[in-house]
Amino acid sequence: MKFQPRASHFIDGEYVEDTNGAAIEVIYPATGEVIARLHSATPAIVEQALNSAKNAQAAWAALSGTERGRILRRASDIMRERNYDLSVLETHDTGKPIQETTVADATSGADALEYFGGLAASLTGEHIPLGGGDFVYTIREALGVCVGIGAWNYPTQIACWKGAPALACGNTMVFKPSETTPLSALKVAEILVEAGAPKGVYNVIQGYGDVGASLVTDPRVAKVSLTGSVPTGRKVYAAAADGMKHVTMELGGKSPMIVFDDADIENAVSGAILGNFYSSGQVCSNGTRVFVQKGIKEAFLKRLSERLDHAKIGDPMDENVSFGPMVSENQMNIALGYIEKGKAEGARLVYGGERIERDGYFVQPTVFADVTDNMTIAREEIFGPVMSVLDFETEEEVMARANDTEFGLAAGVFTNDLTRAHRIVAGFEAGTCYINTYNLAPVEAPFGGSKMSGVGRENSKLAINHFSEMKTVYVSMNDVEAPY
Ligand code: NAD
Repeated sequence: MKFQPRASHFIDGEYVEDTNGAAIEVIYPATGEVIARLHSATPAIVEQALNSAKNAQAAWAALSGTERGRILRRASDIMRERNYDLSVLETHDTGKPIQETTVADATSGADALEYFGGLAASLTGEHIPLGGGDFVYTIREALGVCVGIGAWNYPTQIACWKGAPALACGNTMVFKPSETTPLSALKVAEILVEAGAPKGVYNVIQGYGDVGASLVTDPRVAKVSLTGSVPTGRKVYAAAADGMKHVTMELGGKSPMIVFDDADIENAVSGAILGNFYSSGQVCSNGTRVFVQKGIKEAFLKRLSERLDHAKIGDPMDENVSFGPMVSENQMNIALGYIEKGKAEGARLVYGGERIERDGYFVQPTVFADVTDNMTIAREEIFGPVMSVLDFETEEEVMARANDTEFGLAAGVFTNDLTRAHRIVAGFEAGTCYINTYNLAPVEAPFGGSKMSGVGRENSKLAINHFSEMKTVYVSMNDVEAPY
């Protein structure tokens, strides 16, 4: 098998296998073909990985930030050099078109390695002068062993978005990719070692939820960073709280995108396409509730349908293809189930709505109009290519409806009224907001959710605070005064 890795796990700088672990079959979503067979980590593998990360941490943290940063930046260069091969692997792991993976996966991972590699040398504490010559200084310290747990939609990116800031701060990591897409993270581990990362600094072990759970509860682990669904986030957060561990939770969403009648319709349609159909809709921050002001509703829907006719659906390895399969049969069935609910609850199907008759797990790009706030497709995260278009009349009304959700990951507004745009964004209950665009996530900007969509932020300088802590040192320059 062409994509079969040398072994399932990467621990202490080497590939490691334990065939006693439960089988994991990696399926190419475009054909349904098995492209690799792996094993879930046994308790012995979990033990080996955590020991390796624990043993490597002090020496890694003792390197200068410049040295750690150099290794991360070297890894970034290697990733960029191998972008095409890594993208082919990512396409087979996820089913996403090569047109996407060559620009949004290894490149995004490389951005994180480069950015946090660049920051590593300037991570410092501060000096705080006090009265009478006393002072405090703070030391920014690594947390220790960090666990990263990934979702299946952006496997390389998630492995790097978690690994790069963790390593920059002097932590070591055990990363568990999603069992659905286990291949790319192994390449990230290989590349880090090739770039000079000492053994044990970045380990990858495979497994289902039980393996993730065993990592979260281990006393050697100081921090858990999860990308996944809200139900998983709830469990992981609770388990981490028991051990008083630091957490970052990047969870699901049902984000609003508001299109006012003064918006540039072409741009709004582009934003809605990017925010619903990129990666076949399997993006956490998608703007799946598209509120369109009544006056432009039909024009918007007409232009949207015309543009969707140009989606090139097919073999994701064909560079002209812009819309691929869903990641798995299971995820496809979930999306199809929601499409049926949309029809049954009275939404008007204006585009798509069916499975595509070919091998693999393809679902048509699907648009429902006349969706109302209480319909299931407007309330629950679908994580598939299903857009709900809702009508609105006034700004006040749409603001309240946009926020009427337990989620708070992202939100967007399309309007040419400058003050309204900022007013709307100020009112959004969401971590990541967009004005006249949608779904961009540059490493320089914080990314993450409010409400049930998460805790903490990834990327940007803020991520450093989530992977390090401050030690306070009070220095007295005076005699100690005691009452007796
Ligand atoms: P999931 O919650 O099913 O699984 C996520 C990961 O958690 C997997 O690796 C899984 O094995 C692991 N896991 C499951 N149960 C666990 C447990 N009890 N303890 C520890 N680990 C456990 O999510 P998924 O289906 O892989 O991904 C889709 C979800 O991820 C969607 O809800 C999506 O919105 C979300 N997501 C969020 C972001 C973000 O940045 N906010 C990005 C991508 C995906």
